[in-house]
Amino acid sequence: MAMWNPWRGCKRYSEGCKYCYIHKGDFKRKINTNDIVKTEDFYKPIEKLKKGSYKIKSGLVYLCFSSDFLIEEADLWRDECWEMIKERSDLTFLFLTKRIDRFLDCIPNDWNDGYDNVIVCCTVENQENADYKLSVFKELPIKHKCITAQPLLEKINIEKYLDDIELVVVGGESDYNARALDYDWVLDIREQCIRKNVNFEFRQCGTHFIKDGKKYTLQVHQLTKQARLADINYCK
Ligand code: SF4
Repeated sequence: MAMWNPWRGCKRYSEGCKYCYIHKGDFKRKINTNDIVKTEDFYKPIEKLKKGSYKIKSGLVYLCFSSDFLIEEADLWRDECWEMIKERSDLTFLFLTKRIDRFLDCIPNDWNDGYDNVIVCCTVENQENADYKLSVFKELPIKHKCITAQPLLEKINIEKYLDDIELVVVGGESDYNARALDYDWVLDIREQCIRKNVNFEFRQCGTHFIKDGKKYTLQVHQLTKQARLADINYCK
């Protein structure tokens, strides 16, 4: 698994951005997250070793995890990224976006019904933005689609949007002031996935976590561990 961040910086765009880890990290380092800038890793996928082979070997590449791949400020840079993604057809590129409604303005001319080596994860947090974003997502020409419901802020029903979805990931919010995650909401989405035979993963608990009506406060290092211990992932 490799990471490729061609640019950094982002602007809050939806409810789930409130405690964005990028904004929090930048605040500590006194960096203005609202400045979207290219990074020195811009050409990382096509960088080569002296002997001529690519530095990144085959496998999964997490794309744009210090920004949003579809952010407007990167519109002039994205075409070059698509060229690199095409050149590296031996790699699979995965990006998450809160801006799925910009997707059709961001794809290259030869996208057609999608590149085989691109996985797009549409992120949702509440019923209102799930209904809006997933009805857009449903119609888009993308070969590999996933949904990330993280941070999940309320009980949501996404069952009618699960056709053609390869994986649903659910998780809570991580912050001292985080909004609580209710385990019942997680189990409810899991049931929806099972009914539609879609893979499901409980990725992380929330800092504030409710189970059987009781509220718990967890440390950062416990968030993914406790989710794993719940052992509720579903693989079809
Ligand atoms: S879209 Fe993602 S990276 Fe950008 S502010 Fe929101 S949570 Fe942070």
